[in-house]
Amino acid sequence: MVEGRKKLFGTNGVRGVVNESMSPELALRLGLAIGTAMHGEIAIATDTRTSNTMLKEAVVSGLLSTGCNVIDTGIIPTPALQYFVRERRLNGGVVITASHNPPEFNGVKAIASDGTEASSQEEGMIEDIFYSENFKRARWNEIGQLHFNEQAASDYIDAIASKVDVASIKKRKLRVVLDCSNGASCFTSPYLLEKLGVEFITLNAQPQGSFPGHESEPTPEHLQSLIKSVSALDADLGAAHDGDADRTVFVDEKGNYIPGELSLALIAMEEVRKSGGTAVVPVSTPSVVERAVASAGGKTIYTRVGSPVVARKMMEVHAVIGGEENGGIINPRMQYCRDGGMTLATMLEIIAKNGSLSSLIAKLPESHTVKTKVQLAEGEGHMLMERFRQSVQGMKRDETDGIKLFLDRGWVLVRPSGTEPLIRIFAEGDTEEQARKYAEEYVRIINELREKR
Ligand code: MG
Repeated sequence: MVEGRKKLFGTNGVRGVVNESMSPELALRLGLAIGTAMHGEIAIATDTRTSNTMLKEAVVSGLLSTGCNVIDTGIIPTPALQYFVRERRLNGGVVITASHNPPEFNGVKAIASDGTEASSQEEGMIEDIFYSENFKRARWNEIGQLHFNEQAASDYIDAIASKVDVASIKKRKLRVVLDCSNGASCFTSPYLLEKLGVEFITLNAQPQGSFPGHESEPTPEHLQSLIKSVSALDADLGAAHDGDADRTVFVDEKGNYIPGELSLALIAMEEVRKSGGTAVVPVSTPSVVERAVASAGGKTIYTRVGSPVVARKMMEVHAVIGGEENGGIINPRMQYCRDGGMTLATMLEIIAKNGSLSSLIAKLPESHTVKTKVQLAEGEGHMLMERFRQSVQGMKRDETDGIKLFLDRGWVLVRPSGTEPLIRIFAEGDTEEQARKYAEEYVRIINELREKR
């Protein structure tokens, strides 16, 4: 990669505000760059955003111009497109989505031929082509063909249903409230629940890119209707997806929102208990995951932050589970990517076999974490991290991604953001108060280092 130029891909593809930093001109050039890098046959999908057609047509135009054949699968979750790419042995995929961002955003995300999210090396290659404009241009008689395929959603649903114990789920006659957040899961998750034989009630299940129900980040503030509905309707489980449905968060039968690290800990523990083995999570993950996995006889491996890194490490070590504490869980029984539909099905299987979600969460170790950040000036991060590194020499630490310090009553991770001029500070303590103390202490230390000349 050429130093000094603006990085195109963030942690989740290329994102921006529609018709400002994310324009059809940019999408066209991305299509040309992706087509030049991937060749062959490429599938494309979108979530439900209002700008989807505009951006998709531009990307498709670029792909066809390079000679790629394109399969348009319509509106489906990101993991459904990932499954389609792998199963059909295509050369790659593109998803037009800004995941959980507000409706004025959209983005372009590249999928590798094995169905995983493109790695930073693959993205770097696309960036090189993008900036050098070294686009492949097909001759008039070698321009790509566009096809449409409406099978991707049902293939995905059938595949998930074949990976879980449907008979056990059906037997329990569970009732679920599902919030589709007006996103891509409107076309898959209700049909998946039907196939799994649960009774369900949907919220925000009309696909609508203005997100009239609530913003698509599945936080407790945005999920008040779901939380209230679960208790009012006497349901066994509430579940919500983000806009592109690679993530699922849960509400227990009493109407409690379950933080993502706890649902990850529970699912990881149960997967390890079933088959033994290893879990893979980023270094920023609360230790409740490692402790839950250890209680089932498994071990946990830590990676750099970012789901493509986690997925690739899982493949390398044959892990049985992995993911992030935001509800993005990777279950290789289905595929090596965050998969909202599979996460929903896995949770139903766990509840069907082991009892209510609240009772299972209550058995997990406690978790006390605090996240905060320090805003920096542009370009300040590198120097500051160097100073911080000098200041912690001799302390027990892990430098997989940023600097994680192991302290008497917990740990602190100090990590520069990959996309913005800020340093993120994650702290865990043996009590809530201790976690907060550690976070405050390291905010102060970073600020003192900033002032030092
Ligand atoms: Mg997402």
